[in-house]
Amino acid sequence: TAAAAPLHVVIVPLLAQGHMIPMIDMAQLLAERGVLVTFITTAVNASRIMPIIDRVHQSHLPINFIELPFPAAEAGLPEGCENWDLLPSKELYKNFFDALFLLRNPLEQHLKDLNPRPTCMINDMFNAWTADVAKALNIRRLVFHGTSCIYVFCCYILQKHNIYEKVTDDAEEVIVPDLPTTVRVSIMHAPGWLNVPGFKQLRDEVLHAEETADGVVMNTLDEIEPMFVEAYKKVVGKDVWTVGPLCLYDKDFSSRIVRGNKLAAVDQDRMLSWLDSMEERSVLYVSFSTLGKMKVGQIFEIGAGLEASGVPFIWVIRGVEKYSLEVVKWLEGFEERMGLRSLVIKGWAPQAVILSHKVVGGFITHCGWNSTLEAVSAGVPMITWPHFADQFLNERMVVEYLRIGIDIGVKKPALYWGEDEIPVMRDDVERAVRSLMGDGEEAEERRVRARELKEKAMKAMEEGGSSYENITSLVDYMHQTAGTLQGCAGN
Ligand code: UDP
Repeated sequence: TAAAAPLHVVIVPLLAQGHMIPMIDMAQLLAERGVLVTFITTAVNASRIMPIIDRVHQSHLPINFIELPFPAAEAGLPEGCENWDLLPSKELYKNFFDALFLLRNPLEQHLKDLNPRPTCMINDMFNAWTADVAKALNIRRLVFHGTSCIYVFCCYILQKHNIYEKVTDDAEEVIVPDLPTTVRVSIMHAPGWLNVPGFKQLRDEVLHAEETADGVVMNTLDEIEPMFVEAYKKVVGKDVWTVGPLCLYDKDFSSRIVRGNKLAAVDQDRMLSWLDSMEERSVLYVSFSTLGKMKVGQIFEIGAGLEASGVPFIWVIRGVEKYSLEVVKWLEGFEERMGLRSLVIKGWAPQAVILSHKVVGGFITHCGWNSTLEAVSAGVPMITWPHFADQFLNERMVVEYLRIGIDIGVKKPALYWGEDEIPVMRDDVERAVRSLMGDGEEAEERRVRARELKEKAMKAMEEGGSSYENITSLVDYMHQTAGTLQGCAGN
């Protein structure tokens, strides 16, 4: 019978660290329920998360990591273009997606020969090209969304009703239909998927792959954005499983230290003893995750604001080696002045470990969805500083709906900044830090809400919790459909 068929799911993430990590967490959750997982990467991408892959191997869960040959030369790509760190350079963005498409044939070839045969595929929404592969193999295909439901819903519904067609100004606000309350967004703040010139074909492909998927898996939880999850389920017309926060798969602090190991650009023992020497909830963590190099003037403003705020902090700065000697010298002086008050990490930081340490009481974030979920899961309130894509709506979720954050005051995405414009000045930084980390009533209430939300997030992932039960239902679905032909993906 169909129910007796062995389950074998193929996971095809977007090949970038921030996208692969939650899908590895999902792979482990599925494997723990007895599902065999084939996880697709390339050599370059696998090497960037090797400590995590090593750990999965040590767990003896049934997960195989497959490195497909990445045909970079065929794509005519300049060396190093796989490097997500350089985004959002528009040109590179396009190359990146074009290059991903070249994995189509190697993937199909590989999956055809697999034994046992795959019964289901879960693809990152941007890997639209996987739709054809699933079709060729005649297996079910589910789309994975690693962003917030507020964003997924807005993109979907605005596209479906062609709402932006009549809009001439990117800042003009429109009302999002099919919601129980009035929510207004603009192109600037809800740009849709790849809503930039030159991406029409890719955007259409992504939407088609979305429409033809058999179901949707999302890294969010019903408890934090119930209105959007409910509305999305109603309009999408297929199964939706919310299974997050996936970062909580690995909630044990001592085991997480291994996760950051080797990836981290900081001596972890030194970092831990620094953290241990601090007072509870006193430290601010400042990181813009994998965003590219910041303007020099912006770096100076952040530094001056942090210095003036008087709070201890960890500041993660990427690409220091790409800055001029002047900046490097300035940073040396800054670190010396701050002394034990600060820890500057130049490169990859073990973020999940830092956020879940009890001395961390605030986070300046670009509002990437993974960072947001990690802060929620650790009960850490945020200062929000969005740059593009889903980040402005994620900010709204944090500041307006969940009320666990303060916005630093960025009104428009990076694409709209003037060449010499520095969107956030030292006073903005200082003011936001003082009010987030201070003793005021509002700050205290914000902290209480953040702690309550953390409890909800932990519960969601435990037996009986919403996301836990959704994983059960997802595995049930896979059992029920394993022996059958694919559904609407074949249309
Ligand atoms: N991350 C990390 N250390 C870093 C930068 C990023 O551990 O120095 C992790 C972070 O914890 C999160 C992911 O990488 O899990 C970034 O995802 P997010 O959606 O927040 O932002 P993106 O970088 O994709 O814009």
